[in-house]
Amino acid sequence: MDTKISVVEEGALERVGSVFVEAFGHTPALLVADGITLKVGGFPVSRSLEKADIQVRQFIFPSEPQPYADEHAIAQVRLSLERDNSIAVVLGSGTLNDITKRASAELDRPYMVVATAPSVDGYTSYGAAVSVGGFKQTLPCAAPMVVLADTKVLREAPMDMIASGFGDCMAKYTAGMDWILADLVGVHPIRRDVWDMVQIPLRKVYAHHAGIAQRRGRSIGLLFDALSASGFAMQVMHDSRPASGAEHLISHIWEMEHLSKDGLPVSHGFKVSIGTLTITYLYEQLKQLDLAGIPLTGAESWEEREQSIAAFFPDESVRKQTLAIAKEKFLDGDALLTRREKLVSLLPALIERMDEQLPPYQELKEAMKEVGCPVSPADIASNLEGLRHAVTGAQMIRNRYTVLDLYYELGLFDLALDMLSGM
Ligand SMILES: [Zn+2]
Repeated sequence: MDTKISVVEEGALERVGSVFVEAFGHTPALLVADGITLKVGGFPVSRSLEKADIQVRQFIFPSEPQPYADEHAIAQVRLSLERDNSIAVVLGSGTLNDITKRASAELDRPYMVVATAPSVDGYTSYGAAVSVGGFKQTLPCAAPMVVLADTKVLREAPMDMIASGFGDCMAKYTAGMDWILADLVGVHPIRRDVWDMVQIPLRKVYAHHAGIAQRRGRSIGLLFDALSASGFAMQVMHDSRPASGAEHLISHIWEMEHLSKDGLPVSHGFKVSIGTLTITYLYEQLKQLDLAGIPLTGAESWEEREQSIAAFFPDESVRKQTLAIAKEKFLDGDALLTRREKLVSLLPALIERMDEQLPPYQELKEAMKEVGCPVSPADIASNLEGLRHAVTGAQMIRNRYTVLDLYYELGLFDLALDMLSGM
């Protein structure tokens, strides 16, 4: 694992200097922040580094417009790092961390992140979500060597950011369920050690949802720990499977389409929240399915599949990529029949596992609402049609087996889209 030191505690900001020295020795530091995070912790972080005899320079992005993770922002931080042999200490959450992570990786230097909000699990993941030439991609790069979070700071983060992190955390229920399904289908076996890293902390966070809604220190600390743990799990697996399933694929479609509300991009955690509720609902509906009464017809031919994908992704390079992935997982003829038989026969076992893995849809929805997550597409400036569109695209974009593939392969995808009106 890239991350060697993780400190999450009350008052941790005062330890930034000593932790930096422990990890990097007396190398100079470059504090990367923006106007907002500088106010949140710039002074204590600089003071702590200076107290530890570390020379500190600053690179500050303006707070307006919000920093955006693209090649220009990355080049700016990299150029600043190149001026000496300094190690970046980034003070901030998702975007600033992604920019600094990538800039450091381009120079083959480790870095340290001081988290300001429990808003995403990307703090500790390898890879950075960056827009290159206008396309969002995950560029490879090492996770931070040091993660430090002061629970006092996390607790005071805007409630929307805390709710985003809670949504991204709840996504591990459906991501886990999709992994169980992929394991049962025989396409992606579960790795028990990695499973536990994500799923045990997740359950603690869910049990503490009221405390998170009230910003209690211990509950917020548990949320941060759970988000970090899923980043660690991805580091161990070198794959996002443990932390991301169909709910994230739904959010990727909205990300590609720049879903925004009141002129601001909808946060990752908020898009994922709707994805998580949608997938929980679609799993729950499997219990109602009487497969004996449903004719398993309606399989698309490859030509039809190609056409639907081409219609969905007008951009040529995205379309090409998607077609290649779709071709890999496309089944027809005997292969499809065999898969259908398998799915029908494993359904009882799947439903049994669902009862252990997923909270009931209504209960999860209430808990998410209490914390301040969006619970209907309208809350993120979409609607039922927008959700159906995102779910359709989500089934096309990645070679990762999810419940959407189960519905698709059974010829029941349109039925699944219809069901969404009952959410
Ligand atoms: Zn996520």
